[in-house]
Amino acid sequence: MSADDELNLLVVVVDTNPIWWGKQALAGSELTLSKCLDAVMVLGNSHLFMNRNNKLAVIASHIQESRFLYPGKRWAAADLFGEAGEVNVSSSKDGKYEFLTTINETIAEEIKDLMTNTEIKGQQTETLLAGSLAKALCYIHKMTKAGTASQETKSRILVIKAAEDSALQYMSFMNVIFAAQKQNILIDACVLDSDSGLLQQACDITGGIYLKVPHMPSLLQYLLWVYLPDQEQRSRLILPPPVHVDYRAACFCHRNLIEIGYVCSVCLSIFCSFSPICTTCETAFKISLPAVMKAKKKKLKLAT
Ligand SMILES: [Zn+2]
Ligand SMILES: [Zn+2]
Repeated sequence: MSADDELNLLVVVVDTNPIWWGKQALAGSELTLSKCLDAVMVLGNSHLFMNRNNKLAVIASHIQESRFLYPGKRWAAADLFGEAGEVNVSSSKDGKYEFLTTINETIAEEIKDLMTNTEIKGQQTETLLAGSLAKALCYIHKMTKAGTASQETKSRILVIKAAEDSALQYMSFMNVIFAAQKQNILIDACVLDSDSGLLQQACDITGGIYLKVPHMPSLLQYLLWVYLPDQEQRSRLILPPPVHVDYRAACFCHRNLIEIGYVCSVCLSIFCSFSPICTTCETAFKISLPAVMKAKKKKLKLAT
């Protein structure tokens, strides 16, 4: 199969958590959300430039929703594609370039709309990353189905992560990771701030690259160096060494990260303390108490 028949889909998931980016701006950081999105656009444009079979999607992972920045609702309405996937911009003299401009404008408009229409209600301040990843998987699935039989679709997801991990999303996150692994979809993670155990596991399982950017303002260089090459090209590059993966799991009862815990033998739910009935699948455990406890009970009986 030649490279011409291969469809390369890159889905970029950007963390647009307004609270995190707001704090960043207050602290006078050089990297603002708009600069981060500029970097994403450059990466996206470069990806599209590499091969005419390359496809792009950008998803904003926000605190109350996940939204397609490209191809978004406006994009679908404009319907710039003909049947053969050719660009139909009527005013265009230089097809490809106009096409990229239109994409960048779409992304900028969507993000502006998203940020101006955000109301921070209640306690929900966490980025809906698991939901955004699920959205990305659905989109990839749709695109793979739509592709012709002669075309093989290779898809990957790049997560640009800003805010802290949310332990509440642990279960949905793991489900997404395993779904991606099953579909042979690579998950890459580019982490701006604090390390993310969930994303480390995601990259490790799917064969992607996890990188915490050492110097935030140089985000674009890292994106172009590490994440622009696809899996095949990466084997020829000397990339940052793999990180130590934090494989701790979150208990289902308190969402705390634990190293040793109790696992339900039926549904594999994890608990930090023993309970006689599994709260997930309601299995009742017949457990033989450890010898020490039995001895104690005997002693108690003797005493009474
Ligand atoms: Zn617990
Ligand atoms: Zn169970």
